[in-house]
Amino acid sequence: MKQFQYVRAANQKAAISALTKNASAQFIAGGTNLIDLMKRGITSPDTIIDINNLPIKAIEAYAGGIRIGALALNSEVSENKLVIQKHPLLAQALNAGASAQLRNMATVGGNMMQRTRCPYFYDTALPCNKRQPGTGCSALEGFNRMHAIFGHSDTCIAVHPSDMCVALVALDATALVTGHKGNRRIAFADFHRLPGDTPQKDNNIERGELITGVEIPDNSFTKNVHYLKIRDRASYAFALVSVAAALNQEGNTIKDARLAMGGVAHKPWRLHEAEKALIGKKVSEESFRNAAEIAMKGAKGFKYNSFKLKMAPNAIVEALKTAAGMA
Ligand code: SF4
Repeated sequence: MKQFQYVRAANQKAAISALTKNASAQFIAGGTNLIDLMKRGITSPDTIIDINNLPIKAIEAYAGGIRIGALALNSEVSENKLVIQKHPLLAQALNAGASAQLRNMATVGGNMMQRTRCPYFYDTALPCNKRQPGTGCSALEGFNRMHAIFGHSDTCIAVHPSDMCVALVALDATALVTGHKGNRRIAFADFHRLPGDTPQKDNNIERGELITGVEIPDNSFTKNVHYLKIRDRASYAFALVSVAAALNQEGNTIKDARLAMGGVAHKPWRLHEAEKALIGKKVSEESFRNAAEIAMKGAKGFKYNSFKLKMAPNAIVEALKTAAGMA
């Protein structure tokens, strides 16, 4: 690993100043992804700026929702009474992620900023447009079993690895960021990017900005929710396909729905059309199958991941059935 300078930021202003002074500096919080990236030489900051002392850890209610500080640990959020009561889908998604040890280190902001687990991204001997723009994408013709079926481009077919972010996009969260130009709010659906021809950019945060938190508006998805994660082993594995499903039911009728998928695209993949198709329908396998069919429009697999084209709609149906109490 390249030698680097370690700086501990005393406040937000100092953190942002230290970052903008040095083009290769990076923030560190839990370090659960950054340290791996540094050890493998994928990123080599001259300076790492420890932001763990900043007062952005609280989980609190505000009029109309919950605000979660960027430095709240994944385990603190998943065990928080307010979160469990108001947004059980988020708690479920967090508990499906990583391992207990990692959830005790990883922060909300770090979870949002984590990078893809595409194996070619981590193998510096092979071309990767995300790691080194213009070199090519080894996954296109390589072993692309874990890769995207939605929103990919000729330059990158990687997926975003987070579970938490899938629930947050389904729950209409907003990311809070701050920088030299002041505070900014980014709809969670717009926080992460599709690869297009700039796969090196994972998200829309600008250089010199710091994530300070996430806001989740109150909603009626407190009971009929389920986060389903399909993976190769029961824990500490990234999703082949995951589904965040939330229903607001009145008797046997669906009043409202939220659906998003993970493991299928370069960003958490919200399923707006499928949600619309559920509203006003009866709670039934037929309604759920119809929504899943709509959700899969435009999906395209590659040599080793075409199984996701069948797995994903089945996962949507299963998640909805469990959310509805039918499974
Ligand atoms: Fe790199 Fe993206 Fe291709 Fe993976 S899929 S090798 S991250 S460009």
